Amino acid sequence: MTFATLGLIEPLLRALETLGYQTPTPVQAQAIPAVLAGRDLMAAAQTGTGKTAGFAVPLLQLLTMEGPKVAANSARALILCPTRELAEQVHASVAEYAQHLPLTTYAVYGGVSINPQMMKLRKGVDILVATPGRLIDLFRQNALKLNQLQTLVLDEADRMLDLGFSEELANIYRMLPKKRQTLLFSATFSDDIRLLAGQMLNDPLSIEVSPRNVAANTVKQWVVPVDKKRKPELFVHLMRKGRWKQVLVFAKTRNGVDALVDKLQGLGINADGIHGDKPQATRQRALDRFKSSEVQILVATDVAARGLDIEDLPLVVNFDLPIVAEDYIHRIGRTGRAGNTGEAISLVCADEVNMLSAIEMLTRQTLTRKTEPDFEPEHRVPDTDASGQVVKKPKKPKKPKTSGGGGKRNLGKWVDSGEVAPAEPSIKPVRKVPVFNTGPRKKK
Ligand code: AMP
Repeated sequence: MTFATLGLIEPLLRALETLGYQTPTPVQAQAIPAVLAGRDLMAAAQTGTGKTAGFAVPLLQLLTMEGPKVAANSARALILCPTRELAEQVHASVAEYAQHLPLTTYAVYGGVSINPQMMKLRKGVDILVATPGRLIDLFRQNALKLNQLQTLVLDEADRMLDLGFSEELANIYRMLPKKRQTLLFSATFSDDIRLLAGQMLNDPLSIEVSPRNVAANTVKQWVVPVDKKRKPELFVHLMRKGRWKQVLVFAKTRNGVDALVDKLQGLGINADGIHGDKPQATRQRALDRFKSSEVQILVATDVAARGLDIEDLPLVVNFDLPIVAEDYIHRIGRTGRAGNTGEAISLVCADEVNMLSAIEMLTRQTLTRKTEPDFEPEHRVPDTDASGQVVKKPKKPKKPKTSGGGGKRNLGKWVDSGEVAPAEPSIKPVRKVPVFNTGPRKKK
């Protein structure tokens, strides 16, 4: 199969050829004809499958061939993305695919001044890429009207819900014309996503390019058990041993990112960090420097790393496991993209056993463990498998309690240390109460 046999017009074929796209990926082969035929789409496609071209290329064709000229302060197609980085990246791809077409494209997101965005929208744009919050701001300030909207794309819809955008999505839904085409892309399909799809889509075609919730099989994954406090040391050891050149590292919290970057920079290692507290320009600069290999190690939180597309990224390291198991799939999806092979290594301490178990259940695989000599953990990481079982060591007989001893560690409950849970008190209470992180995830 070729792009020409999918019925694409010459200016698009030329752009794809320049980009070196020779054959459509599976998601493209299914999505392109469906979008051209005007169908709604519900696509389970993880990052790295070529999904962006899967929706953007046929969308560009429809906008070129049909419909009126875009009116002032209007958009004919809207692509919603969960983060600024993803919005930038999707926009860059759309602009590349549109290079020989008479269409205008633009990206809007928060964290930067709204005025230039309002100015730019005056003439209208054919395709607008946006994050939900900024889109609503622009709409409320009358800088954007949506009555000309033909197509809505929800990219990484699962992530939008994870980031707490469900209210924004409900607001946007009310702003849209009833008659429109809607394309929903999501790496994973939870019940909430299905509910959203039920509200937003009309008789959608379902596309699933890889088994649901299974991580890309081009990525070799394993786990290194280690004590929490020795993770930085182990990371440096593995980095030197493996002669890692370009590594994307995920840490759970903003403080965790900063601490690791400081430690690495202190050792003369070329590292930088991105997280939600840093201004957009700083984040973009760090990302650009990492992409151009000026920075060797980029440490990121999940939110900031969303949407990174780095060609041939060979290695992803989970310095901490993600709080939400689905994020594991997103993280390791940064490597092994477009058919390349990649590696994903997770440094796992005893506190993280439940997260490990959740990941193994979600991805339906038991991750191989490779203990690193000299880094064997003192706090053993209990055995886990894809069934969700956590096999704890047989308990030692209890010693009779003396006065006020600290409660024993309860591996069944874990604490999200950096951002949500209270710090461990220096004087331990007589009875230790487990702390749950049950609140909504913070929007970053
Ligand atoms: P995406 O899943 O949309 O983020 O795309 C992942 C990567 O694959 C991007 O770097 C794209 O430029 C690249 N890509 C997308 N489609 C193709 C194709 N048909 N042939 C080669 N590379 C592609």
